[in-house]
Amino acid sequence: MIKKKLIDQLRVPTGKKIHLRDYDPGWAQNRELKDAGKDAVKQRAAELLEENRAELAAAQELLWASDICSVLVVLQAMDAAGKDGIIKHVMSGINPQGCQVFSFKKPSDEDLDHNFLWRYMRCLPERGRIGLFNRSYYEDVLVVKVHPEMLDRQKLPPGKRGDGFWQKRYEDINAFEHHLARNGALILKFFLHISKDEQKKRFLERLDNPDKHWKFSEADLAERAHWDDYTEAFEDMLSATSTKWAPWYVIPADSKWVSRTLVADILVDGIKSLDLEFPKVGEEKRAALAAARKKLESE
Ligand code: AMP
Ligand code: MG
Repeated sequence: MIKKKLIDQLRVPTGKKIHLRDYDPGWAQNRELKDAGKDAVKQRAAELLEENRAELAAAQELLWASDICSVLVVLQAMDAAGKDGIIKHVMSGINPQGCQVFSFKKPSDEDLDHNFLWRYMRCLPERGRIGLFNRSYYEDVLVVKVHPEMLDRQKLPPGKRGDGFWQKRYEDINAFEHHLARNGALILKFFLHISKDEQKKRFLERLDNPDKHWKFSEADLAERAHWDDYTEAFEDMLSATSTKWAPWYVIPADSKWVSRTLVADILVDGIKSLDLEFPKVGEEKRAALAAARKKLESE
């Protein structure tokens, strides 16, 4: 288990304005790993991820069996920060039946005919399951805030669209998540924090490698031009919506292995902290089990 202190450092404090420049997208927070060098970090992170995957599989089984809580994992990031890789690598060891992944694209006309949380609400994980949101309602205070003309499509009642408007959206999100948490949802939110240099490197890799051309999108490049606006939108959002019941973690994402390991670790820890137990069977059921054994053995 990665040290609790480190995880605490990654958790965004509640009700405090944070700046992303205080969070290293690399790995400076941990001296031990930093001194060990890049290959050693990758190797150690891969080992830890393997351990975490096994633990996650066990934790998920318990989650499934106890059938009370659900786990909602929210992933947000700039493009090429590794959201897809997290989903693929972290979730690869677990039972597909217990896991649901939803990727949210631009809202449809039907979506826009409802309140902004509606389309996400319909995709929430059932009890006993882990639901992954690859993008989420947070897009409505990120991409939409950076491109406020998108609000024109949202058919909202007239009113000002200044700070107060966004503040209310944060409040709506906090209230929504509080409602979910009170009803048995464990909510863990990860912001994959990539540096502008690393994003450039990854975009160039996509251009260099014909097998990765499909991954390159001109739209991603256009969004990169708004890097500073996104940074501000992320900072405002993280500062306003990291709560006791639904904390944000800023995950250093310049190293893919490190980010995958950290997410897996926080997820395992979170599910363990639910203190779930396998359902205990009653007297009557135990008698029925004994009778079944007797019957089978006498065949
Ligand atoms: P991708 O995840 O790369 O397939 O891209 C999905 C696109 O949908 C991104 O450009 C997002 O910004 C956009 N998107 C997701 N959710 C919303 C939303 N609520 N409003 C507007 N655009 C969104
Ligand atoms: Mg994309």
